[in-house]
Amino acid sequence: MREKKMICEMCGRDMESVTPVSVEGSVLRVCGACAKFGRPVGSPVATGGPSQGPDREALRERLGKAQGRGLERDLFAELPERELDPDWSRTVRQTRERLGLTQEQFGQRINEKTSVVHKLESGAITPPDALVRKIERTFKVRLTARPGSTT
Ligand SMILES: [Zn+2]
Repeated sequence: MREKKMICEMCGRDMESVTPVSVEGSVLRVCGACAKFGRPVGSPVATGGPSQGPDREALRERLGKAQGRGLERDLFAELPERELDPDWSRTVRQTRERLGLTQEQFGQRINEKTSVVHKLESGAITPPDALVRKIERTFKVRLTARPGSTT
């Protein structure tokens, strides 16, 4: 009485028994030889369980790094405002002209009004530290005097 034949859904061979395995998301009943191509169904798939140790280790490492970064930022925040170079307004204008930008275009690059750029170039206003840094970062220039420099 062998009317109940099993066919391996992977290789198509007639088998005495087949094993359900998960192959790329779908369950196939396959022979023992093909079973190794899929994951056993029914038994819990090992995900995350044993890797808890290393994960915790990595987390601690990341935490340590974050603390280090925070400390660095605190030190940075405590730095005194940098002194502007006496020629800073000329540097602004020269930078703009070197790049062939109008005052309007220059202002757009640093998100400031044209009138602000005009006042900067004429030295009518002293830019706040944030604006100085923005100009320096955007145009890769230095508007501040080097620490200890007397010129
Ligand atoms: Zn097979």
